Amino acid sequence: MSPQPRKSLIAHIFAKVQFYGVVFVLIPFIFVFQITIVYPELVRKLKVSLVEQIVHICLISFCFINVIGNLIYSIMMDSSLKRPVFGEGTYCEECRMVRPVRSWHCMQCNVCIVKRDHHCSFLSRCVGLYNQRYFVLFLGHVMLSMTYATYYNYYFVTMKFKGDGWALSAFRIFNPLLRFIIPEPMGYKDVYLFFLIMNVALIVWSGTLFYWHFKNVLMGVTSYEARFPELKDASRWKQNLRNVFGTKWYLAIICPMCESPLPEEAKYV
Ligand SMILES: [Zn+2]
Ligand SMILES: [Zn+2]
Repeated sequence: MSPQPRKSLIAHIFAKVQFYGVVFVLIPFIFVFQITIVYPELVRKLKVSLVEQIVHICLISFCFINVIGNLIYSIMMDSSLKRPVFGEGTYCEECRMVRPVRSWHCMQCNVCIVKRDHHCSFLSRCVGLYNQRYFVLFLGHVMLSMTYATYYNYYFVTMKFKGDGWALSAFRIFNPLLRFIIPEPMGYKDVYLFFLIMNVALIVWSGTLFYWHFKNVLMGVTSYEARFPELKDASRWKQNLRNVFGTKWYLAIICPMCESPLPEEAKYV
């Protein structure tokens, strides 16, 4: 057999940089920015009471732990097939073993994935039986966190612009050529406005993906199976929810560290 070039090397490096950049730079940066710049000024200008401050700090910490925790667990939990199954299944020519029903071979990961949902290029791995919970909840918590961040960043940006000129600034962010028309140099308030726009963009991105994946979870189908309406079963939504989020699903949705074992049924249906 002739040597094969590593076709996915650049994609592999890009995915790694993307992942470590998001986990160790982007998410902590957003958290530190909100807690050290936006939050203290809002507290001072809006005269927020001590009780409200404690509630906000708890909410910000809750968002941070759930976003970063679910992201890290999505990577750490491995859904690849380690050994052949005995009983009902199909034979994989690539792995040369019998895999359970609903398991598929991933060409990028080069392994069979148990209850394969899809290959996520952002995580650089497949989403399957053991990491789907964390993947879906990561999207849900990004959506909630960005909605919350948009709420108070809106007040922050409004204060900076004093209610005037923000629309023109937004145009200039996306079209730097406007600086020839607007002589005033860009400043901090333009950067704050850019963060607010990013907040809204992330709500749209995570909200759309969360809607799609959570709907599939409730219907009991994977992303591939969602093409076939006859496989969807909304009447079993409670059991479908447990099959992805585990028996303690109510704890799983508020804390990624909480154990929520999958029911035995989840591995075969
Ligand atoms: Zn395989
Ligand atoms: Zn894969």
